Amino acid sequence: MENKYYTELKGVLTDYLTTLKLRKTDERYAIFEQICLFSSHFDISMLHERLNLTNFHVSKATLYNTLDILLAADLIVKHQFTAKSIQYELKVVAETHSHLICTNCGSVREVRDSSLKKDIKNLKISRFTPMFHMLYIYGICSKCKYKIQKNNNKGNTKQ
Ligand SMILES: [Zn+2]
Ligand SMILES: [Zn+2]
Repeated sequence: MENKYYTELKGVLTDYLTTLKLRKTDERYAIFEQICLFSSHFDISMLHERLNLTNFHVSKATLYNTLDILLAADLIVKHQFTAKSIQYELKVVAETHSHLICTNCGSVREVRDSSLKKDIKNLKISRFTPMFHMLYIYGICSKCKYKIQKNNNKGNTKQ
């Protein structure tokens, strides 16, 4: 399976590790390779599972350490969608969409927003150079909305 992002971005990781005189370990590259295969956000246990499936067993400490390096290298972003859930995403992937977050169940959906992207790019901002943006839209997902409506209806018929 071709890993387009890994092919494109592997060099950025190498440059970063070289500049900071950090070790270029197989683990770090293997972790980044798996991250590049996610087409969406992921959490630490999803990543751990993927690595185990490819028979690459790394400790959680190594995982966290590598994620910190990738964050500092600007290759991935960290999302805190809700108080409980921390997720990561390849930066070039995260830039392609916005996130719709249900405040009731915490589910996260992605939505493409090319017109919004254009608007933000055209914003005239003084004394600031925009690099990238992340947009979170909070609301109620259709499943929760359905449940809430159903509960409301029940309450009404009882009376
Ligand atoms: Zn995403
Ligand atoms: Zn919901």
